[in-house]
Amino acid sequence: MLISDTLGRPLRNLRISVTDRCNLRCQYCMPEEEYVWLPRGDILHFEEVSALVDVFAELGVDKLRLTGGEPLLRRDLPALVRMLAAKPTIRDLAMTTNGVLLADHAQALFDAGLHRVTISLDTLRPERFRALTRRDSHQKVLDGIEATVRAGFKGLKLDTVVMRGTNDDELVDLIEFGKQVGAEVRFIEYMDVGGATLWSMDTVLSRTAMLELLERHYGPIEPVVEESSAPADRFRLPDETIFGIISSTTAPFCRSCDRSRLTADGMWYLCLYARQGTALREPLRRSASKEELKSLIIPTWQQRRDRGAEERLQIHHRSPLVQIGELRKDPHLEMHTRGG
Ligand code: SF4
Repeated sequence: MLISDTLGRPLRNLRISVTDRCNLRCQYCMPEEEYVWLPRGDILHFEEVSALVDVFAELGVDKLRLTGGEPLLRRDLPALVRMLAAKPTIRDLAMTTNGVLLADHAQALFDAGLHRVTISLDTLRPERFRALTRRDSHQKVLDGIEATVRAGFKGLKLDTVVMRGTNDDELVDLIEFGKQVGAEVRFIEYMDVGGATLWSMDTVLSRTAMLELLERHYGPIEPVVEESSAPADRFRLPDETIFGIISSTTAPFCRSCDRSRLTADGMWYLCLYARQGTALREPLRRSASKEELKSLIIPTWQQRRDRGAEERLQIHHRSPLVQIGELRKDPHLEMHTRGG
């Protein structure tokens, strides 16, 4: 069964946050000293996640991505991967991680059936990493990248959030690093989502500016022509190297967005910018049937109009989406709760 929203976008792609905790404090995501966490008792067990995925899969979801917070902080994650990888209709099972704990887990995740890994890498400079994340884990991330390749994963992606004046002098170095390790680098425009309390338009390096900067170094860059609902536009350098740009801030792609997000405590959100979600944990824990869960999910998706990033584009004087007081009252508004 395939269901579509009001803009004809199918429900295909589910991002599953397995924890709201993170072991880094990235400036663009968790810049505050203190956070309000989801209550532990509310966090879905793996069996509950698996049961929800069965319902979503019957409604057309065939792509899953495990996220956090930092997903590898969730104990025994390979056990969940094994459950999800065994589902016959799931054709893509990926994970986004900051890489800090990956060296210890890459092989177990590969053996459990994880298909793909995306690792965040915002800088190649250890001192800059420390300033950007308030942690000293740069070498661990590099070790994690190496372990991922060694474990046998193909199609490794490295995601860089580019911030003007912070790491915009590393685009070429990051592409060259990607070539060395066999990974596709994707540059992400700094987004004004919940949790990005330090965001301002001045700190955004636009896709246009990134391409200009890279063309000055590499020469002409060509767009890769492809039909895809993936968030990154891909480009080809003269030497055939492919890289991506996710331009959610200056050139959003909501029209093809088939993504929704499940938080670690079972709230289902239709957009990264959505204020309200659908609570699925409560019906799940009172043993609602599959049909009952579908009756919550189907009309919600069919009425979906969300175009969060496109709507933000219409605002002349943009500032962070949610102020700190509101985030403290509802941690579900945080990007690290929704899985980015
Ligand atoms: S802003 Fe919302 S609708 Fe637009 S691409 Fe992001 S998640 Fe999808």
